[in-house]
Amino acid sequence: MAIQKSGRLSDSSLQLIRECGIGFQNGTGKLKAQSHTFPMEFLFLRDDDIPGYVADGIADLGIVGENVVAEKDEKVDLVYKLGFSRCRLSLAIPRNETYQGIKSLQGQRIATSYPKILANYLAQHGVEADIHEISGSVEIAPSIGLAGAICDIVSSGSTLFSNGLEEVEVVMKSEAVLVAHPHLSEGKKKILDDLLFRIRSVHNARDNKYILMNVPNESLAKVIDLLPGMRSPSVLPLAQSGWSSLHSVIHEEEFWSKIDALKAAGAEGILIVPIEKMIL
Ligand code: ATP
Ligand code: ZN
Repeated sequence: MAIQKSGRLSDSSLQLIRECGIGFQNGTGKLKAQSHTFPMEFLFLRDDDIPGYVADGIADLGIVGENVVAEKDEKVDLVYKLGFSRCRLSLAIPRNETYQGIKSLQGQRIATSYPKILANYLAQHGVEADIHEISGSVEIAPSIGLAGAICDIVSSGSTLFSNGLEEVEVVMKSEAVLVAHPHLSEGKKKILDDLLFRIRSVHNARDNKYILMNVPNESLAKVIDLLPGMRSPSVLPLAQSGWSSLHSVIHEEEFWSKIDALKAAGAEGILIVPIEKMIL
């Protein structure tokens, strides 16, 4: 598996791999590491090189931004959206200029590190512009007179703002994805399936919480109605008669909307506990 050596994808990629129970020693500066707990070797690369390595079969799998997959346009299979490093590729112009739709970009010079994605987008919208490819610091291009507009990665928009720019069009939304070589051997497909099973278990666990509470027996039915659970909640008697401890699993977002109703129904001493892995 190819992962980014250092950058905005690295920490989350390594964290996911660790949470999947795949351990390896990566001494600083090493370009390769073999897992001692899973049949997988890791290559640490620049993100731009990952789609090419995976298409060529040098790596079987890779973790990379969708934006880079689209720009490199290599033959790789997009296997799974990982949900981290979310960002968008947007067009931006100087804030003091008025924008009247995408046609305002007609004939402009646009600086970007994503010439292919931008060319496709402009062609789709019938706009002809002069695409100027630069590899970094794209956001300063308008202020130094290099371009009238830019097309670059945005997450919060603060970099654009501090460079006097305004986002005017979202060209594509992106997040980290797992990509695979299109023709994996049967043995490698099995390893990929095992990896996907682990990734799903990690993601399910992250979105859900284990919830415990004390409930007077006469309120049990009402409280159980509020809790969907994986199958149905567990009810255990408390040492104090007339009370039970109720255990279930609840979606993180759902919990916040149900807390008042649970209390009103008679639940007390509510505990929310993280789940490490969740096998459905
Ligand atoms: P490399 O040295 O490996 O070529 P890079 O400088 O090209 O790194 P990074 O800035 O580390 O790339 O970004 C890697 C990926 O992370 C981007 O392609 C994009 O998918 C995502 N990304 C970039 N900027 C942000 C951001 N501000 N917030 C979230 N995700 C981002
Ligand atoms: Zn890069």
